[in-house]
Amino acid sequence: MRTKAKDQHYIANTYVRHELAAEEGKGAEILGEDGKQYIDLGSGIGVNLFGTADPLWTKAVTDQLHKIQHISNYYYTQPQTDLAQMLCQKTGLEKVFFSNSGAEANECAIKCARKYAFDRYGQGRSVIITLEQSFHGRTMATLSATGQESMHDAFFPFLPDFVHVPPNDLSAMEAALQGNVCAVMLELVQGEGGVVVLDQEYVTAVTQLCAEKDILLIIDEVQTGNGRTGSLYAFMQYGILPDLVTTAKGLGGGLPIGATLMGEKVKDVFSAGSHGSTFGGNPVCAAGAVNVLSRLDEVFLAEVVRKGELLRATLHGAPGIHGISGLGMMIGIHTTKDPRDVAAQCLNKGVLVLTAKEKVRLLPPLTITDAELLRALDILKGVLAS
Ligand SMILES: *Cc1c(COP(=O)(O)O)cnc(C)c1O
Repeated sequence: MRTKAKDQHYIANTYVRHELAAEEGKGAEILGEDGKQYIDLGSGIGVNLFGTADPLWTKAVTDQLHKIQHISNYYYTQPQTDLAQMLCQKTGLEKVFFSNSGAEANECAIKCARKYAFDRYGQGRSVIITLEQSFHGRTMATLSATGQESMHDAFFPFLPDFVHVPPNDLSAMEAALQGNVCAVMLELVQGEGGVVVLDQEYVTAVTQLCAEKDILLIIDEVQTGNGRTGSLYAFMQYGILPDLVTTAKGLGGGLPIGATLMGEKVKDVFSAGSHGSTFGGNPVCAAGAVNVLSRLDEVFLAEVVRKGELLRATLHGAPGIHGISGLGMMIGIHTTKDPRDVAAQCLNKGVLVLTAKEKVRLLPPLTITDAELLRALDILKGVLAS
C-alpha cells in the first residue's frame, strides 16, 4: 500500500491503524484502495451518522460551500444561527458556543463552569468531578478531566482540581461533592471507557445533589448525542436537564464541529472576549449539522431504537459473546478474545468494527439497512465464535 508507506514516513505515530486505506463509500458501504467493499459498523467513531456521502447531506454542505466557506466570528452567518436555534429549541437549553471538536466543546464547558463559580463565589471553588474510565478529550484540560491513568503517562503536570470517582457509586460521589466543587462532568454512556451505561437512579441522584449545592452538571454527549442512543440526546432518556451539554462527533455528519449548550444558570457567564474560536460554527460545518438535526425526527429516532434492538437480539447469546452493553445504536460486546484481533479479522472479512477497552464496539451509521446490518453481524458472529 503506497498510502500506508507514506503515512508511516510522514505522519506522527499516534494511531495504530488497520490495514485499510479508504477511498470512497456510499451509505454503510466503504470502498478500499484495494478495490474491496466493506460494511461500516463504526461510522468514523460515530461521526458519519448517515453513512458516507449521503446525498441530502452532501447537497446541503456543497450548496453552502458555493455561497461562503468561512468568515470570522466578528460577523453573523445564517447557518450558525439556524443551528444554534435548532439546538436550543430541541433541547431546552438556552445558548450555544460553537467550536470544532469534542475536546474543544468540553474545554469550553470547563471554562464556563469555573467562571460561573468564580463570578458567584470568588476563588476556591474550582474542583470538577469526573468519573473513572471517562474520556473527555486529548487537550491538557480535557485530558486532566479524563479518568484514565493510561492516558496520563508522561504528560505531567496536569491542570489541578480534577477529581475522579468510580461510575455508578453514589456514596463516592456524595463524599466528593464538597464546597470547593464547581461542576460534575459525566458521559451517560462511557464510550471510550468500554460502553458503560450509567444507572438511572445514580444519574437522578447526582442531578439532585448538584442542584441542591449549586454545582453545575455537565453532560458530555460528544459520542452519545445526535440520535446515537435512540433519543436526540441521551440526557432526554434520563429525564434530566443538565446545566451544560457538550456535543460533537455526529453533529456535523462528517465535518468537524463541536457545540457547548448552556442552560439558564450559565447562559450569560461568558462576555465578549472571554472565549472564542476562529473556525467555530464555520458555515459549511454548520450547514451539515443543520441537515443532520433537521432529519433526526421522531420517526428517525424510533428507527434507531428498533435497529438497536435488532442488533442486540441478533448478537444475544451467540457463541463467544459474554454480554452486550450500551444504548440504542451504541453497542459494546464483551468477549474473551482480544478486541483488536476481532477488529482485524472482521476487516479481513469485509466489516469495520471499533473497540473500547476490552470490548468490541459498534457505532453503525444510523441509516444502515437491516440487510447490511444482518450481513455484517453474521460475519462478526463468525469471528467471535471461532
Ligand atoms: C470522542 C470524544 C471526545 C473527544 O472528541 P474529539 O473530537 O476527538 O476532540 C470527548 N468526549 C467523548 C465522550 C468522546 O467520545
